[in-house]
Amino acid sequence: MERRIFIGDTCVGCAFCMLVCPYNAIEVFGRARVDYEICNACMKCVACCPNSAIEVVETVETEA
Ligand code: SF4
Ligand code: SF4
Repeated sequence: MERRIFIGDTCVGCAFCMLVCPYNAIEVFGRARVDYEICNACMKCVACCPNSAIEVVETVETEA
């Protein structure tokens, strides 16, 4: 099981999540964008969003 975050439509680009992220995995250009190469799903950004725009999705990795 793997967790991943997604930025939802309610993002207003306030950049709180960018400031909170300890890995600098978020950039904000009007709206937040996540660099999944860097994000390690620590979830620190999720609680800081004033608009609850950051969603957590659990994914099941399947072997090919
Ligand atoms: S904290 Fe929430 S509203 Fe602000 S930029 Fe991040 S995702 Fe968007
Ligand atoms: S889950 Fe953690 S590493 Fe990923 S963007 Fe949010 S604060 Fe940064």
